[in-house]
Amino acid sequence: MSDERLLTTFLDLLRIDSPSGREKGVADYCEAVLRAAGCEVRFDGAAETVGADTGNLFAVLPGTASGRTTVLCAHMDCVQPCEGVEPLLADGVMTSAGETVLGADDKVGLAAVLEAVRRLAEVDDPHPEVHVLLTISEEPGLTGAKALAPDAVTGDVCLVLDADGPVGGIVVASPTHYTFAATFLGKAAHAGVAPEKGSSALVMAARAISAMRLGRLDVETTANIGSVQGGTATNVVAARANVTGECRSLDPERVEEVRQAMQAIMEQAASAAGGRVDVAWTREYTGFRLPEDHPAVVLAQQACRDAGLEPRLLSTGGGSDGNIIAAHGVPTLVLSCGMKDVHGVDESVEVAEIERLTRLVAAVVARMAE
Ligand SMILES: [Zn+2]
Repeated sequence: MSDERLLTTFLDLLRIDSPSGREKGVADYCEAVLRAAGCEVRFDGAAETVGADTGNLFAVLPGTASGRTTVLCAHMDCVQPCEGVEPLLADGVMTSAGETVLGADDKVGLAAVLEAVRRLAEVDDPHPEVHVLLTISEEPGLTGAKALAPDAVTGDVCLVLDADGPVGGIVVASPTHYTFAATFLGKAAHAGVAPEKGSSALVMAARAISAMRLGRLDVETTANIGSVQGGTATNVVAARANVTGECRSLDPERVEEVRQAMQAIMEQAASAAGGRVDVAWTREYTGFRLPEDHPAVVLAQQACRDAGLEPRLLSTGGGSDGNIIAAHGVPTLVLSCGMKDVHGVDESVEVAEIERLTRLVAAVVARMAE
């Protein structure tokens, strides 16, 4: 039907540069398509908060039938290197020419949202209202979504088109994620003349790290040390060491336990060596988990089968705009979009997957009619 237009849209989007913070070219393109399809389009004030050249894009496709509202979400930015993308299509698979990422993450999501809205607007089958949210600066840490006003996202279900893996995957659980920046403070002294007058912050940091449980702690929980920096010279007992790290869990109570354990270990290691540690924790995002019998999960699985796909319920250890939207109170599902090897120059997507994703999105909206 309009597979060719979908492919053209995808190619157009790939060729517009959109590194994080410079999404305006893509935003203008999406705005034009959505307006032509009959949507009202507006932008929020996130450009200023985030320091980007455009805000988050909101569009509403008016309903032609009563029913529940679907929110379709994708992000407009790509990770570097993503400028001057040369798309190559061979045997139905799109890749870049090799110098850049492809940008399938998340232009697959954008193309599927735009095409699904066009098809809904064109066909005579009545459909309920559809909201579109295209965010800026997802890649640097969900910055665009975090700048959304508290009441910005409303709807009965939100589909975030932003997971890798074959279409039909439905992410129903994502972790709560904390990061920390710790500064161990010891006392400098001459390492050869008076080491007993010093207290090594590097030793405190090392003892703390070696006492921590790291890696996969259980099936739902992980912890990691990301960086260690400190000291000045071989002949100086190091007065300061900076350590960064994180923990995540699908279980909101477990992540708090792990966070407290990491904090206690750092404090213990510091005080045992006669120093102290300042730890600043950041809750990067809050997890979500929809049970298998949640109406949105049941409906999404039915829509998969309507679109000729076998649904697979998944959990992830990563975050997406879905974490922020779920915290706004909208039941959220993150859909696998067929993209592979994202964030690297080998990134690819089978074009037929984008068509499947578009059909799935339209099938969810159809099921939302009463
Ligand atoms: Zn993405």
